[in-house]
Amino acid sequence: MRILRGVKTIFGLLKDLWTMSPSEKSDFYKKKCEYYQGIVELSLIVACLTTICFIYSDYMINGSVFPTLIPRLSILAFIAVFFIVTNINESTRVMVVMDFFLGHGMVIAASWTAYNLIDNSNSITGIIIVNLLWIVIGFVSTPEDTIINGIVFIIEIFITNMFNHYTNYEVILSLEIPCIIGIMVVHYIMTAFYLDHYRVSQKLELSMITDPLTSVYNRHLLEKIVSGNALKFISPDERIAVAMVDIDDFKKVNDENGHYTGDLTLFYMGKKLSGETHKDDYVIRYGGEEFVIILRNCDINDAYKRMEQFRIDVENATDRPVPFTISVGISSYSGDYSDTLMKADEALYKAKNTGKNKVVVN
Ligand code: GH3
Ligand code: MG
Ligand code: MG
Repeated sequence: MRILRGVKTIFGLLKDLWTMSPSEKSDFYKKKCEYYQGIVELSLIVACLTTICFIYSDYMINGSVFPTLIPRLSILAFIAVFFIVTNINESTRVMVVMDFFLGHGMVIAASWTAYNLIDNSNSITGIIIVNLLWIVIGFVSTPEDTIINGIVFIIEIFITNMFNHYTNYEVILSLEIPCIIGIMVVHYIMTAFYLDHYRVSQKLELSMITDPLTSVYNRHLLEKIVSGNALKFISPDERIAVAMVDIDDFKKVNDENGHYTGDLTLFYMGKKLSGETHKDDYVIRYGGEEFVIILRNCDINDAYKRMEQFRIDVENATDRPVPFTISVGISSYSGDYSDTLMKADEALYKAKNTGKNKVVVN
């Protein structure tokens, strides 16, 4: 039963949506909007421009184009406001609000037109067509937005009826209410489908920046966190240290115990580094048996203490695949990531040249 499988999948995705943390939910809706806004915007503009062509059907009703010319062209003012606001503020929330603004611009222009028609019995068609716009906007909005929008639209019909006196007002309402409920359900389904895409792209992104052998980050992470040689995430008062960790005589580990044991040693290092660093530190496999650690909220003295403890823990560990030691070079972040890394590398070089199995600060 394909339909039952589909319903089960959607409920699973909706459960995921409802249990998201507020920050993840906000990222999810932001990405959803960034992904679909282009096509939603284009569809809305096409729909707006199409309403201008309705001047011809107005002519068929009124026998003249003049009474409805200005109401129909008023949509151009809504388009202009849409472009001005979305160019000033490109945040996804503003985009969604302005998409709804354009939709309601069409409702206002159409209601104004209906006021100038000698027979407005076709308004029901226009009102039902507007529901297509709400479906399109659902690609960028949240289902909760749809609920609010549905209520606003019903109020709009109620208010415009005060001066338009729709000939079939009750029929309009009796059709519109189930339409709004249907659109709401469709929006939940659309959101669930996008969630599937969002989760897949999250997994892909994570696998792009994860080293498969050690499960720590790989160098691709640096593209995400370093921009113009500066660490992107840093706050003005945060102190950061960068450590370079290298296994001593690792070539000998491979030569004496085999490449597989070498791999197990690297795997062990990844696990130990992840276990002994803080949650918001970055542990990166930089090269073969070389790791870079970005220690957050950590001055150089703290960094020395923590890395020295780590070195001792590795030296004394009893669960290692084979005995080995490490050398570490540390430098405090200067505001220039490449420069800091170079200094940490120089410190590592010094540790290697002065007997290995030690931590050196530069
Ligand atoms: P030093 O103390 O100066 O760091 O000497 P070293 O032997 O550790 O350093 P060297 O650069 O001479 O050798 C690094 C070795 O790491 C050589 C390479 O075969 C090995 N290696 C690199 N990547 C991997 C890997 O993914 N798995 C295994 N098993 N070995 C690797
Ligand atoms: Mg080495
Ligand atoms: Mg090395």
